[in-house]
Amino acid sequence: MVSTKKTKTKIGGTKTNAPFQVPKGMRDRIGHEVHELTGFIEKATEICLYYGFKPIVTPLLEDAQVYSSSVGISSDIVEKEMYTVKTKGGDVLAVRPEFTASVMRSYLEQGMQNQTQPVMLYYSGPCYRYDRPQRGRWREFYQFGLEILGTEKSIADAMVIELTMLSLRESGLQNLRLLVNSIGDKDCRPGYRRELIAYYRKHQAQLCKDCKARLKSNPLRILDCKEPQCAPLKFEAPQSVSSLCDPCKKHFKEVLEYLESLGIEYVIDSTLVRGLDYYTRTVFEIQQETRPPEVALGEVANPGIQADTPLTIAGGGRYDYLARTLGSKRDVPGVGSSIGIDRVLMAEDRVELMPRVIKKPKVYFIQLGFEAKLKSMNVIEVLRKGRVSVVHSLSKDSLGSQLGTAEKLQIPYAIILGQREVIDNTVIVRNMDNRSQDVVKVSKLADYLKKLRI
Ligand code: AMP
Repeated sequence: MVSTKKTKTKIGGTKTNAPFQVPKGMRDRIGHEVHELTGFIEKATEICLYYGFKPIVTPLLEDAQVYSSSVGISSDIVEKEMYTVKTKGGDVLAVRPEFTASVMRSYLEQGMQNQTQPVMLYYSGPCYRYDRPQRGRWREFYQFGLEILGTEKSIADAMVIELTMLSLRESGLQNLRLLVNSIGDKDCRPGYRRELIAYYRKHQAQLCKDCKARLKSNPLRILDCKEPQCAPLKFEAPQSVSSLCDPCKKHFKEVLEYLESLGIEYVIDSTLVRGLDYYTRTVFEIQQETRPPEVALGEVANPGIQADTPLTIAGGGRYDYLARTLGSKRDVPGVGSSIGIDRVLMAEDRVELMPRVIKKPKVYFIQLGFEAKLKSMNVIEVLRKGRVSVVHSLSKDSLGSQLGTAEKLQIPYAIILGQREVIDNTVIVRNMDNRSQDVVKVSKLADYLKKLRI
C-alpha cells in the first residue's frame, strides 16, 4: 500500500519521502534521546529506592471506566483527550492518559490494603492524550511518578514533593519554582464550590463556552482555564485556602512546615486547582523559571506572574477519595506526583544523564579478512565478559577506513584482528595516541586491558 502523505521535515532538517510517518504529536526516539530518557528514569528510580519505594508496572490499557470514574467525566483528559479502544469482545479500554488511577486500581485489586501502610510505589512509562500538539505538549509523552498510598499524614505530601524536587535538581535543573495550594476536603470544598459558583455567575457573560458548562459540572476547573477571557477572572476569585476547615488548615500548615524544614522554597498559588477531579487538600506544580523568582518564601503569588506561565515540569497532589470513585468501600488516602520527562529533557541546564550500562567506548575493534570476520564476535564476547565496551564497524573491510573511524571517534585503543592473529589466537592492541602496539593472546586480553585501566 502506498501512502499519499506529504513530505515531512525530519530531525536534522532533512526532507524524507517515507511512505508512512509517525502519528501526529508523537516521535521516534533514537540513540542518545533514548539514553537520556532511560538515564533520567534511572536517576529518579535510584532516589525512590533509597527512600523505600517499590516499583510497579501496570498495563498500558485499562478499563476506560478506571479513568472516567476517577479522573472525572468533565475533565479535559476524559472529555476530549482519551484514546479508547473497543476490543473484539466489546470491552472499552482506555490507553493510559496518566498513571495514578491505574496504580490505585491495582492497589485495590491486589489487596495492598493488607500490607503494611503506607504502600510507596514508583513507575514510569508513556502516556497518551489526544491534545493539540505544541511546545512541550505531545500526544505521547513519558512520565515518571510516585505514589504514597494508605496514609493521610502530611509528611507523605512533603516526601512526594521532596523526591520530585530531588529528581529534578539532581538532573541539573535550576530555578525550580514550587507552587502549592490546598483545595480542601469533603467538609470544606462544597462551601468553597458554592462561593466560586456565586462569583463566576456574576461574570458568566465573560466566560468561554467550556467554562459556562463547567459552572455546572466542575466550577473549580474554571480557575484552570487558559482562555484569555477567563484567565484574568481568577485573580479576583475566592481563594480555597480561605475556606479550609480546621483539619485541612492544619494539614496544609504542616505540609508547608515540612517544606520549610527541608529548605524547599514554595509559593502558595491560590488559583492552582489542577485539572483532575480526584484531588483533595494538597495540590502542587513545579515549573522552571526562566527568570529569577519574584516571590519570597511562603508569600502568596503575585497574580501578574501567571500571565506568562512557564511549562509545568511536574505536578501532583493528594487524592483521599479516589479509591471510592473506583468502587472501594472505604477511603484510601494517598498522595502522588508525576514528572513529565520530555519536559525535563527540554531544560537547557539539564546534566547529561546516561544509563549506567552505557560506557564511553575505549576500544575500537578492527577485523581484516573473512577469517577475522568469522572470529570477530568471539573476541567481542571476550571483551563483553571483561566489561569492555567496544565500537566496531563489521561491514568495513580496509584497515585505513577502520582506523580512520577510530581516530574520528577519539577512541584511545584499537584492537586489530587479522588473518595471522586468527591463526595465533592473538590480537594486536594499538594505542591510538602514541601508535605503540602489543600482540596479546585472546585468552589474556581482558587482563591486559584491565592493566591499562580500560
Ligand atoms: P498531569 O498528569 O497532567 O498532572 O501531568 C504531569 C506532568 O506530565 C506535567 O507536569 C507535564 O510535565 C507532563 N505532561 C502532561 N501532559 C503532557 C503532554 N501532553 N506532553 C508532555 N508532557 C506532558
